[in-house]
Amino acid sequence: MERTHVVVLGAGFGGLSAVRELARDRRVRVTLIDRNNYHLFQPLLYQVAIAGLEAPQIAWPIRALLRRYPNVRFLMGNVESVDTVDKRVWVDGKAVSYDYLVVSVGSIAHDYGIPGVREHAIPLKSLSDAIHIRDRVLSAVEEAVRTVDAARRRALLTFVVVGGGPTGVELAGALAELNRHVLARDYPEIAPEEIRIILLEAGERLLSYLSPASSAYTQRTLERMGVTVMTGSAVSEVTPFGVRLQDGSFLPAYVVIWTAGVKGMPLPGLPAGRNGRIPTTPQLFIPEHPDIYVVGDLNGLEVDGKPLPQVAPCAKQQGAWAARNILRRLRGQPELPFRYWDKGNLVTIGRNHAVGEVRGLRFTGRLAWLAWLAVHIYYLTGFRNQVMVLGNWIYSYFTYDFAVRVIHRRHQFPYPEEAVRLEEPLVETSAS
Ligand SMILES: Cc1cc2nc3c(=O)[nH]c(=O)nc-3n(C[C@H](O)[C@H](O)[C@H](O)COP(=O)(O)OP(=O)(O)OC[C@H]3O[C@@H](n4cnc5c(N)ncnc54)[C@H](O)[C@@H]3O)c2cc1C
Repeated sequence: MERTHVVVLGAGFGGLSAVRELARDRRVRVTLIDRNNYHLFQPLLYQVAIAGLEAPQIAWPIRALLRRYPNVRFLMGNVESVDTVDKRVWVDGKAVSYDYLVVSVGSIAHDYGIPGVREHAIPLKSLSDAIHIRDRVLSAVEEAVRTVDAARRRALLTFVVVGGGPTGVELAGALAELNRHVLARDYPEIAPEEIRIILLEAGERLLSYLSPASSAYTQRTLERMGVTVMTGSAVSEVTPFGVRLQDGSFLPAYVVIWTAGVKGMPLPGLPAGRNGRIPTTPQLFIPEHPDIYVVGDLNGLEVDGKPLPQVAPCAKQQGAWAARNILRRLRGQPELPFRYWDKGNLVTIGRNHAVGEVRGLRFTGRLAWLAWLAVHIYYLTGFRNQVMVLGNWIYSYFTYDFAVRVIHRRHQFPYPEEAVRLEEPLVETSAS
């Protein structure tokens, strides 16, 4: 008997969850396709960026995850487009046919069309982004040590994080800890207060999806850790020398990290809606293409007029749900509309400080921080990684040390003369 072929695009949270569910039914054969040979645990990417964890500790080989599923095969390749007429996907120039497709290729950083973001700011979406940030931060500090020009030194020692959502908050807090506990000891040539971490948020408060009390706690904690929080500060341009704000002021900085939002990963052949996300029916398939399901960050289903959150639990739940709906269809049963189970929110700010909101309950401080640690260790893929990350955190907690301060590729920073040539003054206008 010819088995139904389900092709799953993307081995992130949504794709893997779909594969696990489909693998239980031997009437289907599954092909999982990803451009990387590893599954990435994005929630800990910021720790790689601040030299707290090594890259392999938050990634896991996809083939190792699939070993126990005989009806699943993995294809490493870049998905270029979907041909909905002939029911096939193009992968590195070759066609792969499907009976059903589950699309879970995630999201990319959203630059909102702001000039210079793509060229000069670093997103935090992939392992190479995280390593790039680490290289840039450490290279900037090394460069600052040997620079005699005061304005250049100040710009080299200013790290700007754009976006006061969970990633921006976690990253800004972690950079403050890197400064206070590690750089202060490694670089006697630099006074700790010389290093400035600026968190820019266009809206009126950080973590705007949480209660105002949680936002206030987060801002207070970050400021106590030495982060300059600037709310109501929308970016109008990023240049090689810093960030211009909508009020016209310019913040000289050689390291600008962009965590201001994401949009759906573009995939030619499929329709895209608001923020690049693909609208689906509540059963998670595309209305015009009932054999194509979309899950995770790319899914644009709205519930009560609001899009679902782009978080790992939602991607996992949708992946499993879409798989179950495919299997229901094969059995001739009706498909069920997706119901999201909101597990709550947890954001870490720094050592002993986090904020959590679960079903109307708000908690902060060490309790929230311990809960954050436990949840992340529990969900991290691979027992070896769980042990190594936990070991790393215990080591850092007691020694105040971040183990991975290695520059893979030294970054070269443009000189002030070039700044003058490009008419970008290295002059402070705010957030001093
Ligand atoms: C820095 C950061 C921190 C986060 N922290 C949290 C957190 O603390 N808690 C939380 O719940 N969520 C967090 N998230 C969000 C969460 O990671 C996402 O919601 C989740 O990963 C979405 O799952 P997905 O399956 O839709 O996409 P992803 O997990 O992004 O997987 C997409 C997969 O598709 C592959 N892919 C993409 N394009 C192609 C292509 N053209 N060809 C082949 N393969 C392709 C990618 O390689 C990837 O493996 C964070 C995200 C980031 C970036």
